[in-house]
Amino acid sequence: MSYKDNLLKIEAYVAGEQPNKTDFIKLNANENPYPPSPMAIKAINDFDGGTLKKYPSANAVGLVKAIAEYHGLKPENVFAGNGTDDVLSLCFRAFFNSGRPILFPDITYSFNTVWCEILRIPYEQIRVDENFRIDPADYRRENGGVVIANPNAPTSIGEGIEFVREILEDNKDVVVIIDEAYVDFGGTTAIPLLKEYDNLVITRTFSKSRSMAGMRLGYAMGSADAVCALYAAKDSMNSYPVDSVAQAAGIASIGDEKYFRETLKKVMATRERLTEEMRKMGFDIPDSSANFIFAKHKTLSAKDIFEFLKSKDIYVRYFNKPRIDDRLRITIGTDDETDRLLDALREYVNN
Ligand SMILES: *Cc1c(COP(=O)(O)O)cnc(C)c1O
Repeated sequence: MSYKDNLLKIEAYVAGEQPNKTDFIKLNANENPYPPSPMAIKAINDFDGGTLKKYPSANAVGLVKAIAEYHGLKPENVFAGNGTDDVLSLCFRAFFNSGRPILFPDITYSFNTVWCEILRIPYEQIRVDENFRIDPADYRRENGGVVIANPNAPTSIGEGIEFVREILEDNKDVVVIIDEAYVDFGGTTAIPLLKEYDNLVITRTFSKSRSMAGMRLGYAMGSADAVCALYAAKDSMNSYPVDSVAQAAGIASIGDEKYFRETLKKVMATRERLTEEMRKMGFDIPDSSANFIFAKHKTLSAKDIFEFLKSKDIYVRYFNKPRIDDRLRITIGTDDETDRLLDALREYVNN
């Protein structure tokens, strides 16, 4: 025996590559190409650094209040954390203690399996169909909880509110998490269902639609009991989650609806243009409700296209995994970045 036998052995989540250079186009982590709201930037610039000698508001009271008001909820129904990844990992701890397997699609956010492994939560991955669609009927079986990203990643496909309702109807005795990381880009939110189903928990992030991936802000919305369990999980791990600067910037971002809407509109318009142009080149692309597309070329290998784009300093995401290794996940960039991407793709496809 060696102490090494006791060390964590886990296949950790692999994030999109962060190349160590400056002149490249980064379309591999679903970051927003536009900066955060000028009001959020101002809140950071105006932040009184002297106050950092104090701990932040432990439960991010001001931020939670702002988020609750924004969504028409009560503060007791909102929990804020350091990015959705932090919030989701606390959800897995707080909600999935039955010993029964939790269910999620085989093609979805790959952090799910990592958290299950590290927290020793049994799980079953339910096959999506050949068009990457999730059938709610597949979630009608004994389980310890359900996790669905809607819109789903990396497929980009968004489902409607009746889809979520169907899953909730069949799973009233477990927590159903709907991860709405991409919902602002044209998806349908399940927020109206919070009134009807107290086992529903919805997560959101500031990283994508609010352009604040570097700040680490995310939140969950659910019943007061579910939120209490999240506080219990958080306070057992780390009693001060969101730092003071992030709280101030988050409140300012929530307050700037106009900039938020304008940014979303630009990203969605660019997405439609990119999708249309790539389809003309022979790519098969499902209609996206997110800030990325999931593209497969009719004849050319995804890995080869990925390598070619990389040689042109354009980074997209390729997953070397069964069922999706023929596709690329491409984040929507600025119009200028998109033009350069399209030029490179035309060059490759026409040669
Ligand atoms: C990006 C992403 C998140 C997490 O974002 P954070 O940066 O941790 O807030 C969660 N779920 C999905 C599906 C995502 O793509």
